[in-house]
Amino acid sequence: MIILCLNCGSSSVKYRLYNWDERRTLAAGIVERIGIKDSFCEQEVAGKEHIRIPQDCQDHRQALQLAVSTMTHPRYGVIKDMSCISAVGHRVVHGGEKFAKSVIITPEIYKTFEDLSDLAPLHNPPNLMGIKAAQEFMPDIPHMAIMDTAWHQTMPEHVYTYALPYEWYTKYGVRRYGFHGTSFLYVAKRAAVLLEKNPFECNLVICHIGNGASVNAVKNGVSYDTSMGFTPLEGMMMGTRCGDHDTAIDFFIMQKENKSPQEMNSILNKKSGLLGITGKTDMRDIQDAVDRNDDMASLALEMECYRIKKYLGSYCFAVGGAHAIVFTAGIGEMSDIVREKSLQGLESLGIVFDPEKNRIAKTRNSESEISAKNSKVKIFVVPTDEERVLIEDVVHLLDGTYQIHTQFTYRFQDPEYMNTLRCLEFAEECQKKPELLGIMPLIYKKAFLKEVKKQEGLKKRIQQIPDVQKYLPGIEKELN
Ligand code: ADP
Repeated sequence: MIILCLNCGSSSVKYRLYNWDERRTLAAGIVERIGIKDSFCEQEVAGKEHIRIPQDCQDHRQALQLAVSTMTHPRYGVIKDMSCISAVGHRVVHGGEKFAKSVIITPEIYKTFEDLSDLAPLHNPPNLMGIKAAQEFMPDIPHMAIMDTAWHQTMPEHVYTYALPYEWYTKYGVRRYGFHGTSFLYVAKRAAVLLEKNPFECNLVICHIGNGASVNAVKNGVSYDTSMGFTPLEGMMMGTRCGDHDTAIDFFIMQKENKSPQEMNSILNKKSGLLGITGKTDMRDIQDAVDRNDDMASLALEMECYRIKKYLGSYCFAVGGAHAIVFTAGIGEMSDIVREKSLQGLESLGIVFDPEKNRIAKTRNSESEISAKNSKVKIFVVPTDEERVLIEDVVHLLDGTYQIHTQFTYRFQDPEYMNTLRCLEFAEECQKKPELLGIMPLIYKKAFLKEVKKQEGLKKRIQQIPDVQKYLPGIEKELN
């Protein structure tokens, strides 16, 4: 069974084609610069050369057409034609209060998403254009919607209600919704595996820190509070979004500089955050600038990490003490400096990170444990995998076994679950950085070794890792 996952943004369409029976990704690609000049499609296929096809795409329909022709390309393609695909999973940013789980898209559901566009004017319209175009290309198969807000529907009323005139909620739906839910679901379930606990007995604080960033308080395995609110603007300091600030500043500046609400909205979403302070949005550039003693970059880094620390503190209290703190997404997975600064000085609260393990933990292909032996709270780094949630939801919606996550167990909750593609990439990373092998959480290491024994090619690459015995004692004997 082949599943297509689509994530349509305002100027890009990301796709992943997955063979469920063989449990492997066939192709992953992106069409970028839709509606702008010089659009192109890039596609990656394991074991094949990476391709880039330039072609102008005026809209999402043309972008999808380009993606389809790339997936079915006589030379670079991976399927003969689109009739091989059994179903499509669409990432939808805003499901409002109506959806606490993924759904099959019917005309009524589509209409509900249209009505919700008011709440997410930047995100839902491109998601809907993608659904329309995909339904046009693949009219005879089911299309499913997986929503970023669904996971947070368990938040209690006193958490999601703003201290604003209550009629704004009843009239317009003004409340906290939260985002990044698909990522939080994946990471929360994986953290329970690493803790070797029932997911519904786990209290967690998850930091999804990418270009967009939010923190999630998970109490007894479900979302209890999150830093993004009515829109993704609230909470953390992000690449270009300001996060928490005194809204009186907005009115002050609107008056001083004669700005319209639209202009102000655009500044807060697109010109603030790291960009507003440093002129840069990419954390790698900011870290480089810090190394060159750039004062503004240092300020931005301190600001971002202090904000993470404040949320860590408040959410540890909110859940009544966390079993684990988990970092995920681009910065969470790759920036040891951000993790270090956010976690420093919390020893008296039982949160102790191991500086050496933290320094090593820079990979998007393996799970790591960075807490010190004496830390009461475990600290993990878990590469997120939103597409995996999409795929499983689609497969189980198709076979009728899908349920809301509180009554459903995902395959990736199996302690022996391994993402095969990531395993291969991890083996390559370890050729240069074998110390990554030494920071795998115990349960993950067991699953990894089981996978290594299954795959001859992977086994060979592991045996070639320099000093492999040092990080995986007894491995030679185990593999032979
Ligand atoms: P998005 O939020 O757009 O989905 P990601 O989760 O991939 O994106 O996160 C993007 C962020 O991750 C960027 O700010 C980028 O700088 C940061 N990042 C990626 N690699 C590294 C690295 N090696 N060190 C520090 N930051 C990194």
